[in-house]
Amino acid sequence: MADAKMIEPPVSSTENHDEIKLGPPPFDVEDADVVLRSSDHVDFRVYKLILSLASPFFKTLFTIPQPRSEGAGTAGVLADRMDDVPVVPISETAPTLDAVLRLVYPIEDAVLDTLTHIRPVLAAAIKYELEEATIVLAGRLLALSAGGSTPIGVFATLCHHRLGEEARVAAKYCLREPFADLLNQMTLPDIYLTSAAPSYLRLLQYHSRCSQILGKITPGELFTAARHWLPDCRACGAMFTISPPGQIGLLPVEIRYRPKFWHLFNQNLIERLKIRPCGDKVMDLELLVLSLAVRCPNCPVDASQRILTYRESVKVVIDEKVSSVELDLGF
Ligand SMILES: [Zn+2]
Repeated sequence: MADAKMIEPPVSSTENHDEIKLGPPPFDVEDADVVLRSSDHVDFRVYKLILSLASPFFKTLFTIPQPRSEGAGTAGVLADRMDDVPVVPISETAPTLDAVLRLVYPIEDAVLDTLTHIRPVLAAAIKYELEEATIVLAGRLLALSAGGSTPIGVFATLCHHRLGEEARVAAKYCLREPFADLLNQMTLPDIYLTSAAPSYLRLLQYHSRCSQILGKITPGELFTAARHWLPDCRACGAMFTISPPGQIGLLPVEIRYRPKFWHLFNQNLIERLKIRPCGDKVMDLELLVLSLAVRCPNCPVDASQRILTYRESVKVVIDEKVSSVELDLGF
């Protein structure tokens, strides 16, 4: 439901309109039927129809009876008029309003590539019930996290706005961070972190549980992911016995010699998973290079290619384990 209280009181009819600037194209059109006036006195001349289609808030707002002349005394939010077009005072600044409107209009979007840029625009999109814009902006936040930028800030922002589905995805990106880093970033004096504090505590518990589970993963479990991949190397490999599925503990029917590089890869991986409990760690290039460095001359010539395949399989195993850990965001 739209809430007229979310709009600031109308600007005074005695305000000096000479100080008011006109918004950038295409928000400067003469045939606009409503003006959105930013908090820093920039008028955006827009069309009611476009805003109404995008936002139940504006659709309801525009149904409120409007005064026919400036200062007509109506208690509604459309109390001021300019060139016989109603003016709606908006509490956002011009850059934020511009970015919001660009998401609504069929034109090129504003550049929103940092958390600082996106936060006020997302807040405005939610405030004005712009569902599609909200989805787009939440997606951009997750893209920042996926790229390794401010995962904690993204998580806190999404929790602040109670965007649970997106916050759960953001939480998984936070697993790439060491636990200590999560704690350190929690001390930031940030209104978003403050409002999201209960969810943040749950994120810490989530990270801890994922670390415990992945820290206990065994080479045997990893081998399961590699059963059809694993090459043998009797020169450097240690003997490895395999029981058929469902017959664990019975006499092994298969004896293999896992290469040293494979063993080292698993060993390093498990240690890293304890600190950063997520499947992405399997893809560390450093992990790959370190492991392949111990290949012996008799190891399979296609070991590099095989371990790439192995990484994909192991990532699936790890992601499944992470997905089995519940995250209660508290809202
Ligand atoms: Zn070898």
